[in-house]
Amino acid sequence: MPLTTPTRTAKTDSAAPQATTTGKNQEWMDKAKAHLLQNYKQQPIVLERGLGSRVWDADGREYLDLISGIATCGLGHCHPEVVVAVKAQLEKLWHVSNVFYSEPQIELAARLTTASGLQRAFFCNSGGEANEALLKLARKVQKDRGNPDRYEVISFDNSFHGRTLATVTATGQPKYHKGFEPLPAGFTHVPYGDLEAVRRAVGPHTAAILVEPIQGEGGVRQAPPGFLKALRALCDEKGLLLLVDEIQTGMGRTGKVFAYQHEGILPDGISLAKSLGNGLPIGAMLCTEEAGKSLVPGTHGSTFGGNLVAAVAANVVARKVTEPQMLRDVAQKGEYFLSRLRELQGRLPTVIKEARGLGLLVGVELFQDAAPFIAKCRELGMLVNAAGEKTIRFAPAYTVANDDLDHGVRILERALKA
Ligand SMILES: *Cc1c(COP(=O)(O)O)cnc(C)c1O
Repeated sequence: MPLTTPTRTAKTDSAAPQATTTGKNQEWMDKAKAHLLQNYKQQPIVLERGLGSRVWDADGREYLDLISGIATCGLGHCHPEVVVAVKAQLEKLWHVSNVFYSEPQIELAARLTTASGLQRAFFCNSGGEANEALLKLARKVQKDRGNPDRYEVISFDNSFHGRTLATVTATGQPKYHKGFEPLPAGFTHVPYGDLEAVRRAVGPHTAAILVEPIQGEGGVRQAPPGFLKALRALCDEKGLLLLVDEIQTGMGRTGKVFAYQHEGILPDGISLAKSLGNGLPIGAMLCTEEAGKSLVPGTHGSTFGGNLVAAVAANVVARKVTEPQMLRDVAQKGEYFLSRLRELQGRLPTVIKEARGLGLLVGVELFQDAAPFIAKCRELGMLVNAAGEKTIRFAPAYTVANDDLDHGVRILERALKA
């Protein structure tokens, strides 16, 4: 479908219009308020169309999208190669379930295991499910090793691992636990980056350590250098599984296919979702041959896992993000963006506390609440979101142009000065 000419453009600051919540946007939002579960704080626009790093709302207004579907559309909205692959699959076969084999899923498993150095792939539909698979894997492996009392998982304060009862319990943010007690047993949290605290927390019940290489939702906070390596050594010493949540950091986001590869380690298992399907819902759990032996037929499964349409999209992503040039681009664009943001921090030292990130996962921490500034950015024609209370999160498409990043910095500057 050809794109219609947007009625307004976000290309230059002067052309950026003020927020409009009239017309079709407003009609749809009224309907949303009548029918949707009111569990989200939604930004007041209805998005209708996207291409690359641009999206358009129901009133035809254009936005520079530097959050790309909360870090899901790594190749950008409606990437032409993904569109071609998905359309072709839509006319061929949609779903057969895991009662049968299907080529796209097998191909994806081969690509992901080759890229990760892990041997086994399990497919599901979301990040939370991928982490559930990791948690079940850890318990089952310890049982099979003859350690039936080892069921506890150590994760980190301020982490985010999902919203199912088990993964929200692994999530180290009490605000997400409140009201859902009693929480499942077998989870404990320690300060992120504190190796001695981890060591102290390991006991006779410990089965595994679950860690994000960079805490995404928790504020784009990277573990100190050497932390993952030290966790790997500790897990080896104590007979624990090292589980790495790569849901936000994986599939090229940080300039490596997987963020643990920055530290040259191999986890026992990892979880993937977000950019895996470029916006189509698919998750994966990858693990070692040894660990994978524990999940024998009957122990785990998913009806939609590895759905053919989602899998062909993920195959395009997996092919593109394993190209060295793509990874170099992400690393270079990320460095460029961060340097521009640090210049901005130099100009606004009382507003910006820190600009940090790796590859194209970048956070700008403010001295105050980020929400009003995120709203201002949107009014000025740029979409971003919050990570934690005070951090503005950027997760642009890997295909973003440097010009767009410059433009994003200009909009941010205007928003922060407003
Ligand atoms: C988004 C996210 C999840 C949860 O993924 P869902 O698809 O929302 O279930 C888990 N862990 C991390 C690190 C994430 O960023």
